[in-house]
Amino acid sequence: MSVHIDDMCIGCNLCVPVCPNRAIAELLHGDTRITHGVNWVVDHELCTECHGFYNEPQCIKVCPTDAIPLGELHPETPQQLDAKAQRLGDFRVSLGLPRNIAYAEPANADMSVEKGFGPKPVQ
Ligand code: SF4
Repeated sequence: MSVHIDDMCIGCNLCVPVCPNRAIAELLHGDTRITHGVNWVVDHELCTECHGFYNEPQCIKVCPTDAIPLGELHPETPQQLDAKAQRLGDFRVSLGLPRNIAYAEPANADMSVEKGFGPKPVQ
């Protein structure tokens, strides 16, 4: 299942750059792929719960308001998530892109809501 963003989201933008699938985007009304959210939304067709990239969902790890629960809206087995990660990664590689298209390291995330500058870019 993909994660989703609930109404605890304050739009701090910490989760967006750490997603290896760039599955988190600004809310676009009428987009049926979107799960739920106030400021940001997760495209469940792209979210792998970080399978194939990390041992835990990176957006959940960096969210300062616990606004990203593991969703039950789009149930998928670990095997399905692994297969999705493989398919997405293969597609990116076929385009000359890296498998992991996160543009910031979660380990460098600035967890301060007050500062709100988000994770530092990958060097
Ligand atoms: Fe992206 Fe991982 Fe969060 Fe899914 S769980 S939205 S793949 S960071």
